[in-house]
Formats: sequence, structure tokens, C-alpha cells
Amino acid sequence: MAQDDKSSGETITAEAARDFIRDIVKTDLDAGRIKQVVTRFPPEPNGYLHIGHAKAICLNFGIAEEFGGRCHLRFDDTNPAKEEQEYIDAIERDVRWLGFDWGKHLYHASDYFERLYGWAEDLIRAGKAYVDDQTQDEMRASRGTLTEGGQNSPFRGRGVEENLDLFRRMRAGEFPNGARVLRAKVDMSSGNINLRDPVLYRILNAPHPRTGTQWKIYPSYDFAHGQSDAIEGITHSVCTLEFEDHRPLYDWFIANLDVPSKPHQYEFARLNLTYTVLSKRVLTELVRGGHVTGWDDPRMPTLAGLRRRGVPPEAIRDFIKRIGVAKANSTVDAGQFEFSVREALNKTALRRMAVLRPLKVVIENYPEGQVEELDAVNHPDDPAAGVRKIKFSRELYIEQDDFMENPPKKFFRLSPGTEVRLRYAYFITCREMVKNAKGEVTELRCTYDPATKGGNALDGRKVKATMHWVSAAHSIAADVRLYNPLFNKPDPSGTENFAAVLNTNSLEVLGGARLEPVLSEAKVEQPVQFERQGYFCRDRESTSNRLVFIRTIGLRDTWAKDQAKEKAAG
Ligand code: ATP
Ligand code: MG
Repeated sequence: MAQDDKSSGETITAEAARDFIRDIVKTDLDAGRIKQVVTRFPPEPNGYLHIGHAKAICLNFGIAEEFGGRCHLRFDDTNPAKEEQEYIDAIERDVRWLGFDWGKHLYHASDYFERLYGWAEDLIRAGKAYVDDQTQDEMRASRGTLTEGGQNSPFRGRGVEENLDLFRRMRAGEFPNGARVLRAKVDMSSGNINLRDPVLYRILNAPHPRTGTQWKIYPSYDFAHGQSDAIEGITHSVCTLEFEDHRPLYDWFIANLDVPSKPHQYEFARLNLTYTVLSKRVLTELVRGGHVTGWDDPRMPTLAGLRRRGVPPEAIRDFIKRIGVAKANSTVDAGQFEFSVREALNKTALRRMAVLRPLKVVIENYPEGQVEELDAVNHPDDPAAGVRKIKFSRELYIEQDDFMENPPKKFFRLSPGTEVRLRYAYFITCREMVKNAKGEVTELRCTYDPATKGGNALDGRKVKATMHWVSAAHSIAADVRLYNPLFNKPDPSGTENFAAVLNTNSLEVLGGARLEPVLSEAKVEQPVQFERQGYFCRDRESTSNRLVFIRTIGLRDTWAKDQAKEKAAG
């Protein structure tokens, strides 16, 4: 998906416009208002990207691709108190992983600090900005409310020379943090709070990941964003709805400064997902508070977490495409995302057998020491994926859940006296149970029918269940981590104290799983299907002694059903 700069007229491969933003872009291109569409994705490097950001990434990069334009990656790095190089690196890695390429168009708001500073001086000279000495509390108190206008600052009438002098001394580092700010002189009585003399510059004596200790003052988001767009020739500055009220200010700067182009801002609805929090502030607290193991904890909705979980990037792109882009906020059911994940994994994941909670089975009439190799299909819909050999022997493991001593009526799997099929192998019949002192079943004694090799009976008789299994001696041990949603409420972001809605059952570790041996070669993050169990991938925490597998997702949405049952029960 690499993009090149294409001049107008060259192959424009736009699909039919599918949402209101694409409509606007298409109209602007058709009317000749722009020659080429230029968008940007502007993350602040104060955390890792999450699936909400994926929506903005797919929208901005997608538009550029579809309409033969380009999309910039621009770091909105105006607040060094919160920003870190680790985040910058992670963001670049995650945008690439998602499948997008900014080519040579990597920018930073900090690239423009000198020009932004110059524009601030221009505003001062034009009598449209002033240095305010009020404390933060005083400024807050005089800002007014949603229904009432604000009060002019006593420093609003400062002369140009005094303002210039103070602003230059702010830059030179003469004043402590927070002592003064530069404000635009717009309108303290405006109905829009963003226009009540917004702050343009703050004093902050903090080292910046890119500019080091060069700056003692930093521009606000509002003062940096639109001007950065103008410098880069952005035609459509697409952002989320919370910036709608900032648009008049965005336009005010573009109208009042000598900027090289006139970009426009358009707002769309941010992505919200049930059982998920998409706020960097909360995600940061989860990491810092040790509620998860890090930004790439497989339970996190971050791109790094989803990648580690085994979610392929095409599943995320498919999901974003399906939900579309709208102007009104809404919350998407997490099940919709899971649908896209299952769709993608079903197509690509190779099938394997793994027993998560093993129960030993001894086939009494199978000769001791004998081993047979059986053919197992790697992917039912993809003959090219081929077959592999799996070993069958006298001692096997099956899933504990697949056996019941006293089964209810509709239980067709193994129980005393019943016959089932072992996938790719034979029919077996349960003859006897071995129990421990506590009365728990620790082993089953079974017999097999040699006339059912490959899983079909020569006499044509049927069985109702087909179960997965592994050969005890040939299987390998692994830890398997099962994940459930981090939150136990559909709308955790509506809660003040998110720790109270954390799902204490979000991680379950199975310490004694048995896998077919070919899984020792599985690659980290590469999905496989454990038949009848779900999609899994090897985790990077695997060691040479111990494999660790992560469940990406179950085959069906059983979690939501369990929740509903619990709710109904009490
Ligand atoms: P915060 O969580 O503090 O509000 P943010 O998520 O908005 O921060 P940014 O780095 O400013 O973080 O986001 C970069 C871009 O991604 C912005 O254009 C923003 O509008 C967009 N974005 C952020 N969250 C979502 C979301 N949930 N859905 C769609 N776009 C989003
Ligand atoms: Mg933001």
C-alpha cells in the first residue's frame, strides 16, 4: 500500500465514495477546488495507538489511497511533559503493521516550532495577541461558563512593545513554569468558550524528545494544529467530533495568519466499543497501575496488544470498513469486531490439535509400544495447505470437558459405555474410569475398533461426536493463556472509578495443556486454530523449556452468552 506523490490527472483509483467525508473529498476534486487530496494522521505521542486510532488511520490513509493523494504521519508533539520517544517508535511500528505507509511524509509539529513562534509574534504585532500574567485560577475564574460570557483580563490592553518584550523573555526562559501565557485576543464574550482568548503558548521548562532544551515555551494544540496543516498543504484535516467546537478557532488562525495554504477541518464520530475503554488517559492508568502487564498486554485494545493477541491487521481494516464513518457518536458492539477477527482467522489459520485440560485415555486393546502415523488436514478450505502426519498410540489425552460420568440427555461425547470418533483416527468406546482418592476421574480405559481407521466405520455405523486428542508420549506441554474482556460492564467509560469495573477474570492460565508437536515450530503472533477450541498464537514469552500460547479468540461468542446467563440468574 505504499503511496507515491501523484500529480493531478494521474490514475485516480477512487472507489465510489462511501461516507460523507469521502463525498466531500470527491466533490472538491470533481469541482477542481483541489488538485490532489492531502490528509494526515496526527497522533500525540503520549501513549500507544488503540483500535479507535485505527479508524482515523484507515480513514486518512484510505482516502489518500483511493483518491490518488497522500497521507502524512504527523506527530503532534507539543507537550513534552507527557510525550516520550517510546511512544513515537511504537506509533510508527503500529501504523506500518496496520498496513499503511507514509513514504517520506513523516512530520512533527516540533518541526514547525520556529515558524509557529514567528506567527505568534505576527499576531502580537497586529494587536491580536497578548501576554497574560494572571494565575491559572484567575484565568479559569474569568473564563465564564457555557451560559455566561467571560471577563477581559486586566492584561488584555498591554501594548505591542511590552507584549513582544515579555513574549521574547518567555522564550528566553526568564520566567518560571506557568508564570505567564500568550493568549489570542479574540472575544471574551463569545458563546464558544474556545474563542475566549485561547492560550497560544505556555511556559514549560521541560526537555523535548526532538528539540531538546531549545524551547522553554510550547504552543497549544489549537495554535499548532491548523498551522501545521497549512504548512504541509493538508486539504482535508479530518478529526473526531470533540474538535467541532474548535473549528471556529482553527479557521480564525488560518484567516489571521500569513499561512501558505488554507486547509479545512472536518469532524467524524470517534469509535467506541462495548467492554472497552478507548481513552489514552485510562489506558495509561491501566499500565501504570499494574492492572495489565504493559501497553502490549493481549487484553489491551491497543494495536500492540491486538497484534500480540494474534489479531491480524486485515481483521482490523475489515472491521473499520464495515462500521463506516458517520457524523453521530455511537458505540459499536465488541461482537462486531470479533466477527471480523474470526472471519480473517478462519481463512488463514492452519488447523492443529491441542488439548487444553487433559484427561488421560488408555486404549486397552491397542498394542503397547505401537505408533501409527495418520493424515490430518491443515486447512479444510485450502487443499494447497496440505496434510501433516499425526501420531496415534496407546495412551492419549482428550479434553476433560469431553467426558461426563453422568451425562445429561443431549451430551453426545464420551461417557461410560458410549462410542465417539477421535478425529482422523478411530472410534473408541469408554469401558472404565479410574478415580483418585477424591473421587475425581483421572483416567479412562477405552477400547478402539481397528475397522474404523481414518474415522469411518467399515460397517457404516455412525457416532454423534468427533473429538480432538493428542498422543500422550508425542505431545508437548504448554501454558495456555485465555483472555476475557478487561471490563465487566458494557460501558466502562461511563464509570468514574474504572478499577471497580475491571473484570477480575480477564486472564486464566492453563498450566498443563498438551499440543501436537508440530506446534513447537509455530511462530510468534502467527495464528493457528486449535480444533474445536478457537484461534491461538505462540507468545513471545515462550522459552526453550516452556511454550506459551495465547488464545486470540474462541470459535464462537460464548463469553457474551455466559454473561447474559449470569445476568439472568441474578
Ligand atoms: P485522548 O484519548 O487523550 O483524547 P486521542 O486518542 O484523541 O487522545 P490523539 O493522539 O490526539 O489521541 O489522536 C490522534 C487522532 O486519532 C486524532 O485525530 C483523533 O481524533 C483520532 N482518534 C482518537 N481516538 C479515536 C477514536 N476512538 N475513534 C476515532 N478516531 C480517534
Ligand atoms: Mg486527541
